[in-house]
Amino acid sequence: MKEILLCKCGELVLKGLNRHKFEDRLQKTLYWRLKKIGNFRIHGCQSTVYVEPQDGEADMDAALEACRKIFGIVAVARAVVCEKNIEDIKAKAAEYLREPLSRVRTYKVETRRSDKRFPMTSPEISREVGGYLSDVYEHLQAQMDEPQLTVKVEVREEYAYVSAGVLPGAGGLPTGTSGRGMLLLSGGIDSPVAGWMMAKRGMELECVHFFSYPFTSLEAKQKVMDLAEILTHWAGRTTVTVVPFTHIQTEIRDKCREDYFTLIMRRMMMRLAQRVAEKRDCQCLITGESLAQVASQTVQALGVTGAVCDMPVLRPAIGMDKEEIVTIARRIGTMDVSILPYEDCCTVFTPKHPQTKPARDKAEDEESKLDVDALIDEAMQGLEVVTIG
Ligand code: ATP
Ligand code: MG
Repeated sequence: MKEILLCKCGELVLKGLNRHKFEDRLQKTLYWRLKKIGNFRIHGCQSTVYVEPQDGEADMDAALEACRKIFGIVAVARAVVCEKNIEDIKAKAAEYLREPLSRVRTYKVETRRSDKRFPMTSPEISREVGGYLSDVYEHLQAQMDEPQLTVKVEVREEYAYVSAGVLPGAGGLPTGTSGRGMLLLSGGIDSPVAGWMMAKRGMELECVHFFSYPFTSLEAKQKVMDLAEILTHWAGRTTVTVVPFTHIQTEIRDKCREDYFTLIMRRMMMRLAQRVAEKRDCQCLITGESLAQVASQTVQALGVTGAVCDMPVLRPAIGMDKEEIVTIARRIGTMDVSILPYEDCCTVFTPKHPQTKPARDKAEDEESKLDVDALIDEAMQGLEVVTIG
């Protein structure tokens, strides 16, 4: 029996003239992600993209998982391909669904017929297939409300397809349809989630990490690489630009007033992130900040921090509670890495009483004690760019 994945596209269909661009990006993404898994033919029609294995070698479990992580796909059905006649549909349904049907008692059949030339209506097909399944599997009982399993029959242009239901996909928009963002990636819980949220809206990601060796360890840096790698399963290939940050931090510690430490450090990060973003063709910065989560994320602090950037700073987690962020982190697979206990540079010289209502002029006064331009230039000389995925 020949299996196939039917990937249902979401918002794509709404995009009018841009639709072709969206479909094209989606197909390219599918091609690149599935290339490693096996030999698949990918072709699209209306709101469904077909992923068809070309030989018996293809790992369909892995392909299904990969498709469920591709933005722009709202649902995926793993289905068996049937000839467009009711006898073949019935026979294949009974054989293909043997295992899932053996695990349930109640079921129903739902049919969608996009080829209106097919000689039976959707309700007729559902009744016929349902009746046949009940005959073959005597333990089964048809139930219209909340059955344990919904068998889906789709009658399309060339073939009909039968599946044990559809699984939710990642939703969002295809990667590469909404520009490119520079994610400030720490080893924490929030920033990978923030990157994922923007990638979901079609943004390509690049990452920047500020590294304060030896105050932060090589393990901390590896952790950031591991997080970036997990993000590639969703957002595709990325880079991590590692910026040497030790000298900047010790200068701040030695010369600035303590309650402004974190704030000035954050302003330095934003300046550098913008420089790296320009270099790498990004149109915005992305951070994992969440309103009032820590002293440097009060609305006043965000204002003083963001004031050094001309680029838009996207903060998709700004209105989220920690719990909501953690739920996403678990779902996308970054949580277990994020909670490994290596310190980030933000926790290296934390003031005892950080400013929660900083003023921009005071921050500027403190910064006048540093040679900001020279420190930025020095850090920009020491960039290390790692490609991931
Ligand atoms: P996270 O969980 O993402 O680390 P956080 O709540 O710990 O966030 P902070 O550590 O104050 O908050 O950092 C706020 C944001 O600044 C982070 O979400 C991240 O985008 C960025 N950031 C912090 N530290 C670094 C770093 N070492 N390298 C790159 N970006 C960083
Ligand atoms: Mg942090």
